[in-house]
Amino acid sequence: MEFSSFSVWNSLRITQQEVDWAVVIWFPQCIPKHAFLVWLIMRKKLLTQDKILKWGLERRKNMNMMCCLLCYADIDSHDHLFFECKFSAHVWSLVRSKVGMDTVDPKWSSIVNWLMSRRRLKTAASFVERILVGATAYTIWQERNARLFKNQTRPPDSLSEVILTTVRYKLMGMKFKPCASVRRLMGAWEIPDDVLKNDGG
Ligand SMILES: [Zn+2]
Repeated sequence: MEFSSFSVWNSLRITQQEVDWAVVIWFPQCIPKHAFLVWLIMRKKLLTQDKILKWGLERRKNMNMMCCLLCYADIDSHDHLFFECKFSAHVWSLVRSKVGMDTVDPKWSSIVNWLMSRRRLKTAASFVERILVGATAYTIWQERNARLFKNQTRPPDSLSEVILTTVRYKLMGMKFKPCASVRRLMGAWEIPDDVLKNDGG
């Protein structure tokens, strides 16, 4: 009896955590395909090679298959790809200052903690942080797949350019009330003032 009420409590607690982090993933301005990927990362549902290997012991003889294709120095797993990998960490270091996350380590847990601590904010800047994290995760995962399936590679600064361009285009289409902090934000992303004027607030 005690055990079952504990497990009920425990599953409720996990559900509550998921509801909490859902708000930093799903919000009106999110990019749906990025949000979906972030949700998969949160639940560790991506088909990384460490998972594939767990399915069958006989595959263990192919241990070298597990090598991360971004750095060739570690294993292909959730924590490694987002963003402990040397390559991913480099990409993160190139984009994080754009949203004031300079002090946030290239670790998924650190990034989630940062976003969670700011989840009740409804400022334009807080949405841009979430969009940038989603775009970074998506672009890294895309690069990993391009290397795995198409044998195509891009350097970290190309990826950071893709990420910043994606966020910038997204920002240009978003509707914010043109207050001083929004103007500052738009200025930092080099978005012309007339974009704000046309949106009607
Ligand atoms: Zn790596």
